[in-house]
Amino acid sequence: AVVLLDVVMETQDAGLQMVRHIRDDLGMSEVRIILRTGQPGYAMELEVFTSYDINDYRTKSELTQTRLFTAVISALRSYQQIRTIAENRRGLEKIVHAASDLMELRALGSFAEGVLIQLAGLLRLPVDGIVCAQRGAPTGPADPQGLYVIGAAGRHADLVASPLSRVDAPGVVSAIEQCMQARQHLFAPALTVLYIRSGESEGAVYLQTDSPLAATDQQLLEVFAANISSCFGNVRLVERLNYVAYHDGLTGLPNRSCFIRDLDAVARAGEQVVIALLDLRHFADLNDGLGHDVGNALLKGVAARLLERLGGACRVARIGADVFGVVGPEAAVNPESLFEVFAQPVDAAGNHLPLSITLGFCRVLGEERSGLALLKSANIALNRAKRSLSESYQYFVPEMEDRSRWRLEIINRLRTDFREGLLEVWFQPKVQLRGGVCVGVEALLRWPGPEGGFVQPPDVFIPLAEYSGVIVDLGRWVLDSAAAIYPALRQSIPGELSIAVNISMPQFLGGGFVDEVREVMVRHGLPRGVLELEVTESVAMEEPKAVIGSLAALRDAGVRVAIDDFGTGYSSLAHLRELPIDCLKIDRAFIKDIAGGEGGMFAETIVALGSKLGLTIVAEGVETEEQAGFLRGLGCGVAQGYLYARPMRLPDLLAWLASRPRH
Ligand code: C2E
Ligand code: MG
Ligand code: MG
Repeated sequence: AVVLLDVVMETQDAGLQMVRHIRDDLGMSEVRIILRTGQPGYAMELEVFTSYDINDYRTKSELTQTRLFTAVISALRSYQQIRTIAENRRGLEKIVHAASDLMELRALGSFAEGVLIQLAGLLRLPVDGIVCAQRGAPTGPADPQGLYVIGAAGRHADLVASPLSRVDAPGVVSAIEQCMQARQHLFAPALTVLYIRSGESEGAVYLQTDSPLAATDQQLLEVFAANISSCFGNVRLVERLNYVAYHDGLTGLPNRSCFIRDLDAVARAGEQVVIALLDLRHFADLNDGLGHDVGNALLKGVAARLLERLGGACRVARIGADVFGVVGPEAAVNPESLFEVFAQPVDAAGNHLPLSITLGFCRVLGEERSGLALLKSANIALNRAKRSLSESYQYFVPEMEDRSRWRLEIINRLRTDFREGLLEVWFQPKVQLRGGVCVGVEALLRWPGPEGGFVQPPDVFIPLAEYSGVIVDLGRWVLDSAAAIYPALRQSIPGELSIAVNISMPQFLGGGFVDEVREVMVRHGLPRGVLELEVTESVAMEEPKAVIGSLAALRDAGVRVAIDDFGTGYSSLAHLRELPIDCLKIDRAFIKDIAGGEGGMFAETIVALGSKLGLTIVAEGVETEEQAGFLRGLGCGVAQGYLYARPMRLPDLLAWLASRPRH
């Protein structure tokens, strides 16, 4: 606190150099300095005083015992005042800082710390043995009644964010509890607890004073407590908002934003971890089937299971409705252990529900990538896994990103080309195997490119159109274009005539599809029995409820229904019976097989089955006379394939028809 220094030592001004060293080099601005010199009037007193912040300057002869005593005492006092001011300033800075730190999660912590420093400064106490507590966990709803430490200094400093009961000093805990219970300040001989409250938020500040506080100090503290109360309320409110912004209300887990922030931190720290995204399969069905309460309970159950099994080593978050995120070391975050986590059914409102999950992984190899980019990669892997029929998990590899960028480009180009009217509907005839009469056409989309040829074949762009939803508008336009050729076709085909259009799942799900079809039939004057809609087996099986209802309504409206690519899906024959359909189209893979010895077996079975169920059977992809002959022998009615004609534009189709037998 105080330095006594001779001015003249080795040199005339050694003492002054020492002072400069203390102030400038050591940066000790608070320490008080008393200079002593043997030669009165020697140094330039005033200058020394002002430029070196000297407390006192005495000649040897002046320094009597009393003089020395008073000089030292006054220097000590002055030192103490300087310290108090400095402490106060630090405390104020902390409180001011708390306001600007509000957006940070630890805002409440720095607020509490500011309060503690301020108090210590006010009371000239060491910043030690002081605790701030509040009701309710600092982050999250854990135990709303329990008391938690939100700020602490000195010997309790490491208890921040823990329950108050962990403070290893029964006197401290009981004093704080007493204050909270009574809802008022507690002034005891050796300690003080201030009660602070703003609206719903209440807390306490404990400080060890060791001796009773003076009455003026008590008043000061009361004013102080009143002042910080409203600030405390604001900070808590902001913290609460922060919590809500970063957490999922249902499960209490961190949400997507929080997960991204964590991933940012992980990437910045260069940690070598693995991210997993976990998708609950068929959650929507469970939710619809068992009710939303069970659905919610299931999500909570999944969250609890993840925390219980992985919470120690990993961070767990809820990323979307039925997607959870996990990040942690490879030893914990890998397909085997995650599938194992859900090997047992999950409790959901008294139900034990077995769950199947799909996983997308992304390894973080300490590279510089943003959290958002990492999440995106994991998502690409997840989507890949969801589309895969054979694998229920995938690890992200950079090629996937190229692939998805490519897919995105195709989708965008498809969208603009469609808008600009560049797409075309072509038609492929269907003919009777006996007699070769054309009995209908199938409308097939084409995407011609600027330099002849096609931008992409339908096998490639139709799935992308389905994935992106573009198929809904596209499909509506195909339907309309196909129906529009009816008058022209009727002229060429006087007898049995069908116009077939392929329909994708998203078209069914939109609602209003049946009305749309009816409206198209009316607009183009199609009688009942002409329009035929082809749906693939998987469409018919995937969402049976939605689809069967629509199919039945369509048939009532006079639309024929065909199952396309039959034999490639997994439908059971029993199921087939329940579907309201008129026609089965044997997939061309089975027609191709006909050349081989027993290759025709499948075709034979389907034809037999079809006639039993009263269905028309169409063979797809008939390319050779041999295949046609074989099918004819089975009694198969209709064929479609390159043997007869490829898909064509309308004028070519009409020319082709003109050259065919008509009856
Ligand atoms: P799909 O409905 O099974 O259509 C039959 C496919 O077989 C057509 O392929 C046709 O060109 C082809 N094909 C016909 N005869 C032969 C043959 O003898 N040999 C061979 N190798 N192939 C033959 P395309 O036009 O490439 O269409 C592929 C798939 O794209 C269609 O299969 C259908 O599922 C889908 N698609 C086409 N247009 C549309 C549409 O407007 N809407 C929807 N949702 N899907 C469509
Ligand atoms: Mg088809
Ligand atoms: Mg087909």
